[in-house]
Amino acid sequence: MKRWLLALSLVIPLAAAAQPPVERTVSVTFDDLPFASVPAENNAALEDMTARLLQAIQNAQVPAVGFVNEAKLYREGNLDPARVALLRSWLKAGFELGNHTYSHPSLNKVPLDAFQADLLHGETVTRPLMQNEGRSLRWFRHPFLHLGATPDVRMAFQDFLAVHAYTVAPVTVNNSEWVFATAYARAQAQGDEEAAHRIGAAYVPYMEAVFTQAEQLALDLFGRSIPHVLVLHANSLNADHFAVLAERLKQRGYRFVTLDTAIRDIAYTSPMGFSGITGESWLERWARHAGLRPSSPPPVPGFVTQWAGPTAYRGY
Ligand SMILES: [Zn+2]
Repeated sequence: MKRWLLALSLVIPLAAAAQPPVERTVSVTFDDLPFASVPAENNAALEDMTARLLQAIQNAQVPAVGFVNEAKLYREGNLDPARVALLRSWLKAGFELGNHTYSHPSLNKVPLDAFQADLLHGETVTRPLMQNEGRSLRWFRHPFLHLGATPDVRMAFQDFLAVHAYTVAPVTVNNSEWVFATAYARAQAQGDEEAAHRIGAAYVPYMEAVFTQAEQLALDLFGRSIPHVLVLHANSLNADHFAVLAERLKQRGYRFVTLDTAIRDIAYTSPMGFSGITGESWLERWARHAGLRPSSPPPVPGFVTQWAGPTAYRGY
């Protein structure tokens, strides 16, 4: 018996040492505030979607940052106070807002000066809202994750961001959540709750596949787990399903951290080089620079892409 205990005491520490628990952290960001794909754009529906989304984020204790497109605050050319109130509710819930440009242009497609003007237009409402809360506007997220078509544009834009005291919010967990969200909103708008249910049920397993891939790529590149940055959108899909997604991430060992904490990791100083004009994640760009080929993203189920339709709104 004693010998058995001795053997056990030797085996257990060795086993534990061989497989330390994986420390996983992720920062969660939401783009296209105050709303992306929703079944209806009347103010009551938008308030309901926002309230449910914020509640889910709060319940999961996620220190989120929301990125604003101020063009969406206007209706028929007039600033809509009800839509400004949606942004205020993000701040009141304790979350930070960032700039995602005014009208969501692509830096790969519009001239740099026009893009920069659009970005500055996009802080007209958000900056004073943040100041009222004693905060400064400091995060910028590129629409479509398009960083500029040429190295010259990228460098000039970096200088512009530095002058205006913006920090770029990277993304390492790239995904097609926006396709699910478009499909979900269309199914709901058409009153097909059964389809909406199926789309919602497919969303979280899809995101788990996305995380599995990002985790593996980080491991291949850095030999360790890195703090990830996830991009999602302010939409009905997440109002209804973010709670489940957050729970699944916790089960994978994730702890939710701020964007500041995530990007403090040395991985975020990795060279990206110039990897073309597709909207890839930072992780994918780092990997390409290091000579690794990121694998194709997990497929979106066919019935989801069918519901999303050919004119699906491109979210990033
Ligand atoms: Zn976007």
